[in-house]
Amino acid sequence: MPSGKVHLGFELLTLPGWVAGGVALGVPEGALVTFSLAYAAASLLLSPDLDLARSGPARRWGALRWLWLPYAWLFRHRGLSHSPLWGPLTRLLYLAALALLLFLPFHLALKVPFPHRFPSRLLAPGLAGVYLAHLLHVGLDWVAGLLPRRRLK
Ligand SMILES: [Zn+2]
Repeated sequence: MPSGKVHLGFELLTLPGWVAGGVALGVPEGALVTFSLAYAAASLLLSPDLDLARSGPARRWGALRWLWLPYAWLFRHRGLSHSPLWGPLTRLLYLAALALLLFLPFHLALKVPFPHRFPSRLLAPGLAGVYLAHLLHVGLDWVAGLLPRRRLK
């Protein structure tokens, strides 16, 4: 399978192409910025390979990399985490659960209200960025599976 560096390089190097495509299609600037940020964040920090306890994306979380250990224990490598549809959802829901756990003490002790509105105009371009980065990852894994071994190391 391609290494983490190949995945990350491929995803980050193709980003300008996706943005140029968006400009050509008349996608509004704000949506392109949201898309680009989500795409880069997903490539760097929300890779499907977080299903491995020791991986480039886990290391990029630095001192917080232990937060992803339960994810690696829960998800078999290249299983549901690499599903074209469900993979990104598992990580977004996992992140939401982490955020909730972090926020809960403040809510309970200091009565800080839960943020109840997500700016809906960010949703579509944000999800497009997260999903495109994911689909390129699983697509590259799939292509590498067709090639003779050790080609993309
Ligand atoms: Zn992978």
